[in-house]
Amino acid sequence: MKFDFHCHSDFSDGTLSPQQLLKYAAEREIQLLSLTDHDTVSGLSILKKEIGSSNASLRLIPGIEISASCDFGEVHIVGLDIDEENQDLIKRLEIQQAARWQRAKLIQGKLSKCGVEGVYDHLQDNVKQVVTRTHIAKAIVGIGSAKDMQQAFKKYIGKKGRARVKQEWMSMEEAIHLIHGAGGMAVLAHPTRYPVSNRKLAYLIESFKSIGGQAIETAYPSLNKDKSAWLELHRSKNGLLASSGSDFHYPDLKWTDLGRFPRLSDDIPHVKQLLSSKYN
Ligand code: AMP
Ligand code: MN
Ligand code: MN
Ligand code: MN
Repeated sequence: MKFDFHCHSDFSDGTLSPQQLLKYAAEREIQLLSLTDHDTVSGLSILKKEIGSSNASLRLIPGIEISASCDFGEVHIVGLDIDEENQDLIKRLEIQQAARWQRAKLIQGKLSKCGVEGVYDHLQDNVKQVVTRTHIAKAIVGIGSAKDMQQAFKKYIGKKGRARVKQEWMSMEEAIHLIHGAGGMAVLAHPTRYPVSNRKLAYLIESFKSIGGQAIETAYPSLNKDKSAWLELHRSKNGLLASSGSDFHYPDLKWTDLGRFPRLSDDIPHVKQLLSSKYN
């Protein structure tokens, strides 16, 4: 069965609308898909409606990717199989969305000091709902202040960039609690992408489990064999389930195409075993 439990639409920093995403997934014969936009559930009802009115055989697992803060910095917590109408979740996400706009304003302030103007106005005119650094990087490129997204991150909004603004997100505990409150499973997203040592990452995985986390992504693009083996060891040691997803954002990035990620051995306990029987 072809599936993908991590991807984005244009309600956050993907480029495809939920309608286009459905078509794109159908072309790739994906049968089970979780849309996991950053800090929003707004694309889910639209995608659901679209599936209902088409003859697509795809089944949607309502999802989310919440930005959270913990002792090690920023982490992303994916929620799978959530109730997208849960009011506590929606209300808290609205607060985080507003904080993102506030951050964008502060970033514009710092960009102005570097002579880069007009980014915030561009965002206000073009962002559908959740503003992310992806949008900001694209705007910087669009006005010619960086040659590509990588350079925009490096020069301005990445960890060492001149217009970096540190953001406090909700705590990892709160993110997990909200996901549970909405009936979902909490998944630690792309663990090896956090800039921490292996020792700290091992500790992060342990704390994630101890506060109720249920699964960890162990199959996603860019993972080499050593890292996969390391993650599998820590998944199993902590009694977590595995999850897999491409983190698809846009069609031009072929290495993160929808449905594309390393395949895990069938004997590894995986969220797909639970989800495929529920969403059959
Ligand atoms: P935010 O959550 O607004 O801080 O934005 C983070 C998003 O920016 C991530 O979800 C990625 O999609 C994207 N991103 C982060 N770092 C980079 C980078 N170096 N190059 C391109 N995109 C990036
Ligand atoms: Mn993103
Ligand atoms: Mn992420
Ligand atoms: Mn993502």
